[in-house]
Amino acid sequence: MSIPLLETYNRAPISFVKGEGAWLETIEGEKYLDMASGIAVNSLGHANTNLINALEAQARLLWHTSNLYTIPAQEELAQILVKRTFAEKVFFTNSGTESIECAVKMARKYYFDKGMRNKNTIVTFEGSFHGRSMAAISASGAKKSREGFAPLLSGFKNLPFNDCDSIKSFDFKEVCGILLEPIQGEGGIIPASEEFVLELRELCNKNDVLLIFDEIQSGIGRTGDFFSFERFGISPDIVTVAKGIGGGFPIGCCLATRDAASGLTAGTHGSTFGGNPLACAVGIAVLKEIFSDGFLQNVKNKGRILCSDLEKLVFNNSTIFELVRGRGLMLGLKCKVQNSDIIELAYENKLLLVPAADNVVRILPPLNITDQEICIARDRFISLAKGMKEKM
Ligand SMILES: *Cc1c(COP(=O)(O)O)cnc(C)c1O
Repeated sequence: MSIPLLETYNRAPISFVKGEGAWLETIEGEKYLDMASGIAVNSLGHANTNLINALEAQARLLWHTSNLYTIPAQEELAQILVKRTFAEKVFFTNSGTESIECAVKMARKYYFDKGMRNKNTIVTFEGSFHGRSMAAISASGAKKSREGFAPLLSGFKNLPFNDCDSIKSFDFKEVCGILLEPIQGEGGIIPASEEFVLELRELCNKNDVLLIFDEIQSGIGRTGDFFSFERFGISPDIVTVAKGIGGGFPIGCCLATRDAASGLTAGTHGSTFGGNPLACAVGIAVLKEIFSDGFLQNVKNKGRILCSDLEKLVFNNSTIFELVRGRGLMLGLKCKVQNSDIIELAYENKLLLVPAADNVVRILPPLNITDQEICIARDRFISLAKGMKEKM
């Protein structure tokens, strides 16, 4: 009997039934080392005791009330985010796509309220990914996610990524926001250059435009900074968050300065589930761990070890791999052979990886992966490279 699911995913024939830390176990009891984290979602690994306790305690008290009432856990989570980041205002969502929707609406409403009704274009970049809703695919730079869904929303302009000349010559008069991933994830782990980001900040200041970072994949400690933009030493106006903040529970948010958020007043935006007590209880537990002493420094250290292991792998297998790029525990291995073949061989070696555009395989382990597990990952990479050479 065929399975009545939309065929939107090319699923691997593997089913996991439980997990612990960086390990996932199949029905047959086979253990895989998870260097994918459900695409940067299981930031603290599987079956994390603190997250289980937070979820279980909240589940016994209250699941849902509605945003018609104040939700203490939601207020607490917002306070943590505001205390630790550029943000002064938070809107909670259930996914990255919804965080993007909020950011787009926020930027447009901001200029509408200022009486600048034509200032409504959002500039985005080639190779970007921002989600699957109509606004998110209209913003996206990848043809694959847009084609066939016309008419797309108007008011989005796609420019080349990391190209200072093209942005310097662009007319920003009707632009309300510039939206970019500080490290493109789906696009193939491509970091924005410092020069490019600094130029964008300056252009936003000069032309009165809101700078929006999509940190849905790169945020919540993934790169060793809480947000990956922090290394540029500048401050954005709006940031979108999801994936890692829930550690596997669906939650996202849109963060903003008080000024940028000023247009979204009572009744202009909302969500039934966004910021629900269960999600926020887990979010608080995740952030407590991410902000605990030495945690982010540890991500940086582990990222360095893993990156240098992968550089050796590339050096020793230059017919298979081209290069390593990324930051912290958000790494990409650009392949010379088909990336899908590498991912297949990784399955055979009980290693989970994620494909990305530009023939890249992504390496996104739980942020609390141990040094010993990084060694195991390295050995499995070496073994899969050997397997690949035998097939060539
Ligand atoms: C995953 C992702 C999204 C979309 O998030 P969903 O939760 O799947 O809606 C948006 N932007 C970036 C950078 C992402 O990695």
